[in-house]
Amino acid sequence: TGPLTVGEFAKQLRKEASEVIRKLISFGTMAAINQEIDVDTMILLGEEFGIRVVYKEIVDESNFEELEEHDDPNDLVERPPVVTIMGHVDHGKTTLLDTIRESKITSGEAGGITQHIGAYQIEKDGRKITFLDTPGHAAFTTMRARGAKVTDITILVVAADDGVMPQTIEAINHSKAANVPIIVAVNKMDKPDATPDRVMQQLTEYGVVPEDWGGENIFVPISALNGTGIDDLLEMVLLQAEILELKANPEKPARGVVIEAELDKGKGTIGTVLVQSGTLRVGDAIVAGNHFGKIRAMINDRGRRIKVASPSTPVGILGLSDVPNAGDAFMVFEDEKKARAIASQRGLKEKQAAQGTQAKVTLDDLFKQI
Ligand code: GDP
Ligand code: MG
Repeated sequence: TGPLTVGEFAKQLRKEASEVIRKLISFGTMAAINQEIDVDTMILLGEEFGIRVVYKEIVDESNFEELEEHDDPNDLVERPPVVTIMGHVDHGKTTLLDTIRESKITSGEAGGITQHIGAYQIEKDGRKITFLDTPGHAAFTTMRARGAKVTDITILVVAADDGVMPQTIEAINHSKAANVPIIVAVNKMDKPDATPDRVMQQLTEYGVVPEDWGGENIFVPISALNGTGIDDLLEMVLLQAEILELKANPEKPARGVVIEAELDKGKGTIGTVLVQSGTLRVGDAIVAGNHFGKIRAMINDRGRRIKVASPSTPVGILGLSDVPNAGDAFMVFEDEKKARAIASQRGLKEKQAAQGTQAKVTLDDLFKQI
C-alpha cells in the first residue's frame, strides 16, 4: 500500500506515535501524527527502533500495461527503432514499405518467402530497423487508445506532385500527440511535376519544419518507385534513433504489444506481437489482451522458426487460446496457471467496465470532435 501516516506507522511498529515523532525530530523533521511519511523514512525509523521494515508494494498484475518497468540502468541495452510509415492515400506508403523490404533482404535470404506478419525488420550498416506494416493509422489510434506507445519514429510520406492533403495533416496530428518525431519522405521525386519546395512550405504551416529552416524535422527527397534516396532515408532513421537513445532490458520476461491477430483453421490463433522489453521465448506462458496461452512456436518476418525474440523484434506466435485485438498489451508470466488466472481476471474487468461505461473513445473520435 501507499505511504502511511505517522500514527499508522507507529501502530505497525507497536510504538507510541509520540516516540516516532521524537525520532523524526531527531532527524530534523517536524511531523504531526496524521502526516504521511515516505518509505525511506520508514526504513530509517525502523532501524532506529531496531526493527527491520520490509516494504512490499501490492501490485495488480492483471493491469500489467500500467505497471512501470523498474530496470537497473546497467541492464539496459540499445534496441532497434520501431518505425511507422504514414501519409495520404496514394502518396506511396505501400510502395515505400515494399521497396525498403526488398532492397534490404540479405543475399542468403533471397528467394526465401517473406512472411506477412504485419511488421518486418531490416538491417542497414549492421543496425536493425523495425517497420510496422499495419496501416500507420491503426498503429496510433487503437494502440494509443489502449495506452501503448508502439512507434518511435514516423516516416511521413508526402507526394511531391500532390503536396499536403487531409491524411497528411492527420498523420502529423497523431505523431505530435504521441510525441513521436517525424521524418518527411518527399516522394515521387522522379515525376516531372514534382515541387518539393512547395511541400516544405506547406508543411511548415503545420509545425513540420526542415532543419535548414531552423526546424527540427529531417526531410529526404525519395522515389519509392525507383529506389532513389532510400539509403539516405534509412540513414536518417538511424540518426534519429541515435538521438532518441532507445533502450530496453532484454534480461527479463517479455512485454509488448499485439500488432495483429487472426484465427487460422489449422493452426489456431496466429498473432504478431512486437516485443518491447525482455526476451520472448518458445514455451513462455503469455497473456495477450484477455487471452492466455503457451507459445508453441514463433516465426520471424522471413517465415523462419525462431526460439527467442529480443526487444523491438516483431514475431509471429502460435499458441494463444483465442484472438486478441490489435493494440492489446501482452506479458509473460511464470506459468500457464498464472497466465490463465490473469487472463480471466482481465476478461472480468473488461465486462464490468463495459457495463459501466460507453464504448471506448478512440483517438480518432477525439480528433473528429475538434
Ligand atoms: P499508398 O496508398 O500510400 O500506399 O500508395 P501506393 O504505394 O499504393 O502508391 C500509389 C501509386 O503511386 C501507385 O501507382 C504507385 O506505383 C505510385 N508511386 C508510389 N511511389 C512512387 C514514386 O516514387 N514515383 C512514382 N512515379 N510513382 C509512385
Ligand atoms: Mg497502401
